[in-house]
Amino acid sequence: MTEEKMRFEAEVSRLLDIVVHSLYSNKDIFLRELISNASDACDKLRYEAIAKPDLLAGDADFKVRLLTDDVRNVLTIADNGIGMNKEDLVDNLGTIANSGTAKFLDAVSKSDNAKDVDLIGQFGVGFYSAFMVANKVEVVSRKAGEDQAWKWSSDGKGEYTISEAEMEGRGTQITLHLTDDNKEFTDEHRLRHIVKTYSDHIGIPVVLMKGDGDETLNEASALWTRPKSEITDEQYKEFYKHTSHAFDDPWKTIHYQAEGAIEYTGLLYLPTMRPFDLYDPQRKGHLKLYVRKVFITEGADELLPPWLRFVSGVVDSQDLPLNVSREMLQDHPLLTKIKNGLTKKVLSELETAAKKDAEGYETFWENFGSVVKEGLYEDQTNRDRILKLARFRSTHGDGWTTLADYVERMKDGQKAIYYISGEDIDALKRSPQLEGFAAKGIEVLLLTDPVDEFWMPSVGQFEEKDFKSVTRGGADLNDIKSDDKEADKDDKKEEDASDASALIAAIKLALGNGVKDVRESDRLTSSACCLIADEMGMDLRMERLMKQHNRVDEISPRILEINPKHSLIKKLSDIATKDAKAPILNDAALLLLDQARILEGEALPDPVSFARRLDLVMEKGLGA
Ligand code: ADP
Ligand code: MG
Repeated sequence: MTEEKMRFEAEVSRLLDIVVHSLYSNKDIFLRELISNASDACDKLRYEAIAKPDLLAGDADFKVRLLTDDVRNVLTIADNGIGMNKEDLVDNLGTIANSGTAKFLDAVSKSDNAKDVDLIGQFGVGFYSAFMVANKVEVVSRKAGEDQAWKWSSDGKGEYTISEAEMEGRGTQITLHLTDDNKEFTDEHRLRHIVKTYSDHIGIPVVLMKGDGDETLNEASALWTRPKSEITDEQYKEFYKHTSHAFDDPWKTIHYQAEGAIEYTGLLYLPTMRPFDLYDPQRKGHLKLYVRKVFITEGADELLPPWLRFVSGVVDSQDLPLNVSREMLQDHPLLTKIKNGLTKKVLSELETAAKKDAEGYETFWENFGSVVKEGLYEDQTNRDRILKLARFRSTHGDGWTTLADYVERMKDGQKAIYYISGEDIDALKRSPQLEGFAAKGIEVLLLTDPVDEFWMPSVGQFEEKDFKSVTRGGADLNDIKSDDKEADKDDKKEEDASDASALIAAIKLALGNGVKDVRESDRLTSSACCLIADEMGMDLRMERLMKQHNRVDEISPRILEINPKHSLIKKLSDIATKDAKAPILNDAALLLLDQARILEGEALPDPVSFARRLDLVMEKGLGA
């Protein structure tokens, strides 16, 4: 019989190296991973067999068997699931079928906590955890519907071999040759305890084969079919880790029975921590669809809208036909109803949490708010509910605020909900455009999620108040009354401001098409100038984002606002009034525009000229 030697892909080798050489606080989890794979393999065959019953070959009694040999120090985990042929073995146990390996390596190398190896299953590389306890692993497998069995064998050191093998019936048998310090895993009590702890929720029996009669170690009924009162917190948590490939504890567990027009059971989890791949476009969620306890598919967009993609768990439908194919799911009317039902359920759970556990809810929002906000433009039906659930940073304190609370704090005469957007909260707080608002005590929302640029234009309003960017159009500050009467009076008495009309004319002449307009500002109090987008134009940051993504070719010319109360502007105004052609005005105009760009965080079109001009003006200032 020929034996083929193959090398692991480099990343698998590195992964194995870590698994073999690290010290673990929790080695037990290897069994959880192997049993979970065995159970997945049975689920897969059960699904395939709906269309091809012959695959079952009369054996529909799915099981995971554990065999121990404490003389040879061997533990075997066997299943009668779908099995693997030669190609499957190479693909699944030697190469990187998904991006998980690289991500796992990344996560483990960043953490100095050996415990983090626990999360191996989350990255879709759980199989390799077998090498935590064994120095040799043999996998004998026969795929359902095929006659030839194959053996995969490796000591975890860079290579594995594949050869033909004998096996009665289909399925997979994994034999672990335990290292001396892991002999304990042939001990019955030990195995009983581990299975109870980590695998009790597995829907098929996990059976310990003993001389004096076999013993089923787990409950062996699908967890979601059991009454809530009979499920412990620990069991819910373990099931969460299993279905969601997660290593945190769930923040919320929602287990319910929908009755009436459509019947289904939902066991939904909201995570505490953000999954590492939440923004990966390839990511498939971890919500599993079952039809009467038969696994159909996982991560179906048909089950939940993308803005709830962090929700995981199980949905088991009573009404869908068993022979529903994955392709048919797409526009199945029943599924659309289930999807709406699940969405409403999650929304109301969030609403309750927001009321009863404000702090916990804010942590949730911090992790998932940017994803939930996608719903504001993707899901018209639920938009209003999502808007109420949304939390914002603002210039009012350091915490989060709701829109309703913002509206509550609006000043007399204030018509719009003001916001400013950018990449960084602290930089935003220092934006010159905010000065006038701050002086009048008008609150401004600080938006830092890229998604804000997308929902903002499509939502437009909250409680009939327009959202308005402070970087766009007129500031309308004169119509708004502040609590501070002095600040209001300031608007009226203009004597401390210069007449800037001559200066404005000179700047317009100097900048030509470089700006759309130059005008006096009522939003600046301490800075000399700032950039503003046209009333009709895009928000400044929105346009920058579009430019980055090549959606627009050019940033359109902005409006330059100057502050007539600023001492530099006053001096320049005096000069311009006396001599509209004074040479300094040209340099000043260009420098002011570049300064405003820098404040915006924009790159200067010509930094060299800027530096030269600045040097010249400084030199003159020094009396050279
Ligand atoms: P994951 O289970 O997250 O996909 P694993 O590293 O645990 O990652 O397993 C890798 C792959 O190997 C599985 O996706 C599956 O295709 C295959 N596999 C592992 N164990 C079995 C088994 N007992 N029966 C059939 N296929 C298996
Ligand atoms: Mg696995």
